[in-house]
Amino acid sequence: MPASRTAPAQLGEPPGSREEAAAFLERVEVRDVLAWTRLLIEPHDAAAVVRALARPPIELRQADLARVIQIARRRKLDIVSALTLAIELPQVPPDARERIQRFLDLRHAAETALEGVRPDLLARMALGGGPEACEQPRARPGDDVVQVGQLRRTMQLLRDEVLASAARIGGRLGELRLDTDLDISHGVVRYMELLKLSALLQRPSGETIQEALADVNARLEAAASPLQREILQTSTLDELLLAGEAELGTRSEAVVRSKIGHREEPSLGPFLPRKGLGLALSASDVETYRSCPLRYKFARVLRIPTAQTLQQRFGIAVHRVLERYHAEGASTLDQMLDLLDDAWRRGGFGDSETERQLREKARTALQCYHARLLAQASEPVWLERSFAFRLGPHQVRGRVDRVDRLPPGEDAEYELIDYKTSRPKDAAQLQDDIQLSLYALAAREAWQLDSSRQAYHYVLDDRKVPVPRDESDMRAVTDAVLEVGEGILAQRFEPTPSQTVCAACDYRLACPVAER
Ligand code: SF4
Repeated sequence: MPASRTAPAQLGEPPGSREEAAAFLERVEVRDVLAWTRLLIEPHDAAAVVRALARPPIELRQADLARVIQIARRRKLDIVSALTLAIELPQVPPDARERIQRFLDLRHAAETALEGVRPDLLARMALGGGPEACEQPRARPGDDVVQVGQLRRTMQLLRDEVLASAARIGGRLGELRLDTDLDISHGVVRYMELLKLSALLQRPSGETIQEALADVNARLEAAASPLQREILQTSTLDELLLAGEAELGTRSEAVVRSKIGHREEPSLGPFLPRKGLGLALSASDVETYRSCPLRYKFARVLRIPTAQTLQQRFGIAVHRVLERYHAEGASTLDQMLDLLDDAWRRGGFGDSETERQLREKARTALQCYHARLLAQASEPVWLERSFAFRLGPHQVRGRVDRVDRLPPGEDAEYELIDYKTSRPKDAAQLQDDIQLSLYALAAREAWQLDSSRQAYHYVLDDRKVPVPRDESDMRAVTDAVLEVGEGILAQRFEPTPSQTVCAACDYRLACPVAER
C-alpha cells in the first residue's frame, strides 16, 4: 500500500477545526489512503481503484487504464476483476501487466493483513507509516521559499520517475525490441533533467532560473547524443520550471507529477469517441468539456464507471413514467400513477424515509403534469425522438424527451421539450444554455423542422421555462461544438476547477486538483 509519507503522530491527531479537517482530507497521502481503504471495502468503487492505479507505487499509464476500463465495460466486470483478466490478454503491454500484477499483489496482501480487523481501525492502520528520509540541498539565504520548495518537490518527483523508469527500461533490455535505443535515451534524459534541477537549486545567489537554465541546458546538450539532445529539447520541464512563481507555488504534487509523467504518456487517441474524421458529441459532452476538460476525460475518454445516486435513479424513474405514459397511449391519472408504482419497483427503491418522500414528491408532480397536459392545446407527437447530424467534422447526436405540435396561431409549429427533475432555472440563468440550442439546430438540420421553439419542463416544480433561440444562438452553439471538438482531438484535458463544478463531480477522488 502506498503508505503515508507523513509521521504517524501528525496523521493520527484528529484535525481540529472544519478548515483543518478539509485541509487534512486534501492531502495527497490521506487521499491515497482513502482510495485504498475504499477499494478494499468496495471493489466496485471505480474512482478509488482508478486513483490507486494512477498513483505510486503502481502508476499505470492513462492509455493502459483506459484499456482496462474498456475490458471491464465490454465484459461487464468491475475494474478489479477486469485487471485480473487483463494480465492474461495479449493487447495489454508487458509493462502494464507488471504494474497491474503489483496492484493485485498489494491488494491481496492488504486484504490478508486486514482479515478480522474492525473497519473503524482500517483507516487508522492505513494512516501509519514512517516519513521517507530524503536528503535535499539546503535553501540559501535570500532564496524564495515557494520557489525552492517547488524545485525540491519537482526534483523529488523526477527522482522517483528516474528510479521507476530505470526498473522499467532495465526490464526491457532483455527483450527483442526495435525501440530499445529510444527507451535508453529517454532514461538518460530523465537523469540529465535530475542534474538540471540539482544545478538550479545550487545556482549562484541572485541568479534567476531563466538565466541559469540557458547555461545548464548548453552543458547538458553538449554531453548528450543527437537522439538524447532531441528528447531534451522537446521536454516540457523548462516550461514547467518557468511557469512563474505564482503558478509553481499553487500546483499540487499530483499536477506537477502529471506534467512530468505526461512526457512519456502514450496517446489517448484510440480511446476518443471517434466518428469518421471527427468525434461523436452530445449536448452533455459539450457541456461537460466546457465545465472541465479533465472531467470530460474521466467520463468520456477513460470512461470511469460511476454509481448512480439516488437522485439520478429518481430522475430516470420519472422520465420512464412519462415516456411510457405517452408511448402506451394512456390517458388517465390512475394509469400514470400505476406506471410510477411499476417504475419504483423496477428501480430498486427501498423504504427509507428519503425514498418515501421522493415517491410522494413524484406522485404530486405527476398529478400536476397530468392536469397541465389536459389543459394544453398542443399535442405530443414524438417522444424520446433521436437525432444525428454533421457539424463540421463531428457528428452531433442526442434525443429530445417530447416534441409537441402547437395549435395554429402560435409563434412556431412545434415545441421541443426537455424534462428536468432538478431545481428550476430562469431564462436569465439559461442564457448560455447549450442543450436547447443544439436541439433547435437538430430540429432544423436532422428533422427539417423549420419552425420550432424550445422549453425546459421542470416536472417536480410544475414549471415550464421557454428558452428562445435565434440565428445568433445557432452560430454560437456551432462555434462552441467546433471549439470543444478541437480541444478533445488535440487531447487538451487541463482541469478548470470551480467550487460549483467540482462539488458535483463524480471524479473528485481520482482528480489531482483537489489535493495539496
Ligand atoms: S474535481 Fe473539479 S477539477 Fe477535478 S475533474 Fe472534477 S470538475 Fe474537474
